[in-house]
This record gives sequence, structure tokens and C-alpha cells, in this order.
Amino acid sequence: MTKDQFAKQSLAMLKEVFGYDQFRNQQGEIITSICQAKDTFVLMPTGGGKSLCYQIPAMIRNGTGIVVSPLISLMKDQVDALQVCGVSAAFYNSSLKAAESRKVLQNFEKGKLDLLYIAPERLLSQEFMGRLRKVKIVLFAIDEAHCVSQWGHDFRPEYVRLGQLRKNFPKVPMVALTATADTHTREDIIECLGLHNARRYVSSFDRPNIRYLVAPKRQPMKQIVEFIRDWKDSSGIIYCLSRKRVEEVTVNLQRHHLKAAAYHAGLPAKQREKVQDDFLRDRIRIIVATVAFGMGVDKPNVRFVIHHDIPKSIESYYQETGRAGRDSLEAEVLLLYGAGDTNLVRKLIENVESLDQRRIEVHKLNSMIGFAEALTCRRRVLLSYFGERLEHDCGNCDICLDPPETFDATKYAQQSLRAVKTAGEQFGMGYIVDILRGADTARIRTNEHAKLKMYGVGKHLGLDEWTSILRQLVHHGDLTQDVSQHGALKMTPKGQKLLKGSAKVTFAKYKPGVRHGIKKPSRKRNDDVFALLDVLRYQLSDKLDISPHTIFSDVALGEMSLTRPITEEAFSKVSGVGSHKLSTYGPDFIHVLQEHVKRFPEIIVPKIEKVIKLVPKGPSPTAAQQHTWTLYKKGASIEDLIAQGLSEKTLMQHFIALVRAGNEIDVSSIVGEETFKYVMKALADADPCSSLTEVKKDLDIDISNEAFRLILAWNEGAEEV
Ligand code: ADP
Ligand code: ZN
Repeated sequence: MTKDQFAKQSLAMLKEVFGYDQFRNQQGEIITSICQAKDTFVLMPTGGGKSLCYQIPAMIRNGTGIVVSPLISLMKDQVDALQVCGVSAAFYNSSLKAAESRKVLQNFEKGKLDLLYIAPERLLSQEFMGRLRKVKIVLFAIDEAHCVSQWGHDFRPEYVRLGQLRKNFPKVPMVALTATADTHTREDIIECLGLHNARRYVSSFDRPNIRYLVAPKRQPMKQIVEFIRDWKDSSGIIYCLSRKRVEEVTVNLQRHHLKAAAYHAGLPAKQREKVQDDFLRDRIRIIVATVAFGMGVDKPNVRFVIHHDIPKSIESYYQETGRAGRDSLEAEVLLLYGAGDTNLVRKLIENVESLDQRRIEVHKLNSMIGFAEALTCRRRVLLSYFGERLEHDCGNCDICLDPPETFDATKYAQQSLRAVKTAGEQFGMGYIVDILRGADTARIRTNEHAKLKMYGVGKHLGLDEWTSILRQLVHHGDLTQDVSQHGALKMTPKGQKLLKGSAKVTFAKYKPGVRHGIKKPSRKRNDDVFALLDVLRYQLSDKLDISPHTIFSDVALGEMSLTRPITEEAFSKVSGVGSHKLSTYGPDFIHVLQEHVKRFPEIIVPKIEKVIKLVPKGPSPTAAQQHTWTLYKKGASIEDLIAQGLSEKTLMQHFIALVRAGNEIDVSSIVGEETFKYVMKALADADPCSSLTEVKKDLDIDISNEAFRLILAWNEGAEEV
């Protein structure tokens, strides 16, 4: 088959089997690459949609795809999810009874399976290797591939041996998938699995649907209970640093009548398994856990993650918060930051044996503290830590939602950069601050740095103020901090430009203490219909002994609750309803919806869209934006969309991105016809030399930045028709 034919067939399968209209991110290209039997390396954040990347090729190509997965508990869920879509899939592991095992092997050897999930040690056993040679294998998918690396937190010695596969089956394509952010680990994967010639697909690490919040830790229990109140009936995880704290927090939550359970390595294995299973099956909503809880959690609808204590690195923080919002619906993460907690982490670090390792851990912790104390958009800080640059502030973190005061920091930024540069780019933040403030330390004397031009130029600013400025330079990508080199600050090309140029720099003003009062966008969720469907889903899943979300995701349920599809035809259009699910579960769900519509016969009037062709001017929409588009197209109103859990500001940003991507949105009715006409006229009449800020300033009406940008986006796209 040609590339185009593979592409066409995989899209058809996406719709028919999984009920989705479009591929996300690079899914389409990845699938084609694997179908063409190319080794492939996929780096995509959690929730990006990695599973389909190997599932669809295994179904298209004739033969069986072998999926290596580290955890037995994950395999069942993944196989259940495939089976309810009508896919012939099975797992082979120690949880099966003898008779079941035999059956799986029989089906496998007869070539009846499209996908077989298996743990590495079983796969590599002599016995199984023999079986493999008898069956047509179309691919090896190594899920959670970072387990090969000793660098990561999930190292599994069995994974290292998977390199044999490349040698023993040179013709079978191998695909390694991971969400790891660590570049070191990536190289380990390529090396260990022999994927030097693999095509690499690397996505952004951004998780736009996660709202990052940091709050000063005052009365943690009270703060947590209040936070959870906003997420009634939703699933969430609370991370604590010690087992003792896990127990305390759990008891406290239970006292507040919240369905919470504790999870840590000190509990018997059976109990841990049960807790995890109850969480997956929606019997328990909140897990209070140490970092021991994680890998096995493949629950798509975790709506919040709270850190009761500061994590030990940004990598851990990113991974733990990343467990929220896999289904791409809105999620919120909260870090309770008490400066004193860092001592606890420091103590843990002291136990690390190697001195080098200890140093690295200290620097990692310092970066985490930098994140917690940041005055810059949190997402910027996170992504810049992983070497990614964000063009705009995100609009979906506590800093963006409630920005701190700013000031003109041009002079200070340049002084800092010059100090870093002239000192030779090998010193950490504390030392640079010492230079700027003219400190008389032994180290400065030894290095003769009192001679530097920048020595003592910033005496009038305090230590914290300078630290804050240097941090912001790091967060904005003007400086980088080399963790492996004791946190030495280095210039970046962007910093060089800033140093030489005359651009103005605006930074957030440092204020002692941590910032107060996060404005949280109000959110309504779970309307009546959603609740009804949720109950039905739970009953069905209980009967079938599978996780509720494998039947329909929250995304699908949310869409059903908005569009109320009461015919088979309408129901089949819901995202996530493939043909098999339509026939097995459709009737029950349609019935519930019909009953509801009978009782509350509201009519949803479909929107009449103006026929205007928009030319795409921006990148394709993210998954969350795509979701908004799907609902919008089906007639959801602004209120409906906000009720799905979006803040108004975020929703407007979705609209802007959608318009820029060429999606026809009725901008006029969103911003109001009068406003629309007025701004369009102002744009047409404006002096071509004047900047947009000036055009906006000259308007006689009060219009939000977002609304203005939305009209602008529309104006830009529509112009060329
Ligand atoms: P990952 O393994 O990368 O964390 P998953 O494969 O579990 O992500 O996918 C996350 C969620 O997104 C799942 O609920 C999946 O069904 C959904 N999903 C994946 N691809 C698409 C798509 N193209 N359109 C809509 N939903 C998708
Ligand atoms: Zn932000």
C-alpha cells in the first residue's frame, strides 16, 4: 500500500472503530510511518494520544502487534478499552488463570489477535520467543519506554533486555513511546533499544488544559477542602512527602465526608491494589498518596492534583501534575508552597550517597523552588525548564489570572547579564547576586571579581530582588541554568541580543512573602444529564467488571449531555462513539436521553452560521480547542461551553486560535454585532502605520483584549477571500 492509502485507511478506522473525526498532534504521520514498517520513536505528553499510534497500524496491517507494557494493572484496562470498541485484543500475564492463558495463546497462534499486551520478562522468555516465530508479527510497541533508563524514576531492569528484539527480529518495526521530558532518558531509550535509525516524532510538552496554581501554605487542610469543594464528584490525587502525612490528610478528608483513601509503599500490596482499582472504577474519588502512586494510574478523568508538599524536582512535579486531565478536559493543579517544607526535602537529599548525585538533586530542588516562587507565567517556567519556549503567557495559571505588579527592569536585566558574562558564565545565582551587590566574600576575593565593572552596581537592591530578576531572566530564556554544572548561569542567544539591544524589559515586581488571593475562574460542571449518564455508565461498567471510562469517556458524556442525541444517527456523531459501541451501548444511553428529553423538552436551535471562508493563519488547534470547536459546531452556546469547565478568558482564547486555524466561527454574535461592526470599521479606517495597540486605544468603546484579538483574527483570515 502507498503512504496515501495508509493515511486514508487509518482515518477511516479512527472514525469507524474509535469514533473520532480527526487525528491529534502527529498521530496521522506516526501511524503512516509505522504502517510503512519504519522504526519510530514517539515523544508525546501524557494524554497526547499515544495508544492509537500503535493500535491502528496493528489493526491495518495483517498480523499481530505486540505491546510491551510495564504494569499488569494497566494491561487489563487497555485491553478492555479495545474490546469494547470491537477490537480483537488480549493480554498475557500472570494474572490469568491457566485456562484463560491457554485460550489467549491459542488465539495468538491462530493469528486471531490484532494486539497482544505482554510484560517484558514474559515476552523475552525462551518459550515465548519460540511462539513469536510461528506468528506473523507486525510491530513491537514499547510503551512507557523510559523504563529502560536508569535516569528516570521508573527504571525496570527487564526493559533493558528489550534491545534483543531489534536483533532477533530485524524486519519487524519497533515503536518506542514515552512522555518523559528528560533528554538524557531519551538518548538512553534510543541507545538501549537500538533505535538509531528510527524516525523521531517529538511533540510539545505543554498541557494546555491544565491550570497551574500555587498558593502559600497556611492552613493546608482548610485550603484543600475548599479547593475540592469546587471539584465536587470529580476524581483527584493529593501528593504528600511522607507516609505519616498521607495518613493524616486521609483521615481529615474522611472527617469531611469525602471519599478518600490512602496509598503508600508501607501498605500491604493487596490493599494498594484495591485502592488503585477503586479509584479507577470511580468508587473512590480522592487518593492521598506518596510519590509511590503513579505509574499504574491511567485514569483519563483525574480533574485535580494537589501537592500538599513541594516535590523534589520540576520533573517530578510535571509528571505528577501530568496525571490530571488526560482526557483533555479542563483540570486544575495546586501546589501548596510553604518555604519551610523545603527543609524536609533537603533532608531526604542528604541521604543520597554519591556527592555528585546529591549536588544535582540540590539544584533540581532549587529549580523547583524557583518555580514555586516565580512571578512569571507558570507554564513559561515549566516549559523553559524543558527547553521549550512559549510565545505568549498562557492565560491559564495563577500568575496570568492574577498578574503581579510590573516595572521597567531594562537596566537591571542588562546589569545581570553583563555580570554573568564578564564573570565567565560559570557561576550560580547566589554568586552573581553577590557580585551585583558588591559583597566582600572570600570567593569573590579569590576570583578577583571586585575588579569587574558590574561589582557593586546594584547595592541599593536587596538579595531577594536580585534573585527575582535573575530568575525571571532564566524563565524568559535569556539565561539558562545548567543543573549538571552546579546551577551555573549561561547566556543564551536571546540574552546576548537583550544585552546588546535597546529593547525594553518589563518584569514582575518582587514582593516579600508569597502572593495571596488567586482568582479562580468560576466553573459549573456536571449538569443533570451528565449525572444521569454517569450513573448509567457506572452500572454498566460494574456489571461488566471494567472501568467506567472504557465505556465512554467524560468527553463523550459531556457532549451527549449538551447535544442530547436521541436518534441512532445523532448518537453515532458523538466523539468517541464508534460502530461497535453504538450497537452495544447506544440503545441504553439513547433511552436515558429520550426519557430526559420527554421530561424536559428543550429544543436546541442549531446556530445559523454566516458563510464566510476563512484562510488559516495560525497553527492547527490543540485537542482542547478542537473539543470546543466540536461542541460549538453542534450548537453549544457560550454559556454551555463555560459550563463545561472553561473560564471565559480561556474560551475566548480557544475561539481566537480556532479562527486563526481557519474555523468558521460567528465572531459577530460572540462579541456583539455593534461592537463587531465598529471595530471592523476602525480597523479598516486606521492609519496603516499605527500599531494595533494604538488602534485599540483609540476605540471609544470598552472591549476586552480577547474580544479585540478575536475580531482581529477574523479580520486577518477573512481578508484574503
Ligand atoms: P497517552 O497514552 O498519550 O497518555 P491516550 O492514548 O491514553 O494518551 O489518549 C488520551 C485520551 O485521548 C484517550 O481518552 C483517547 O481516547 C483520546 N484520544 C486519542 N486520540 C484522539 C483523537 N484523535 N481524537 C479524540 N480523542 C482522542
Ligand atoms: Zn500563565
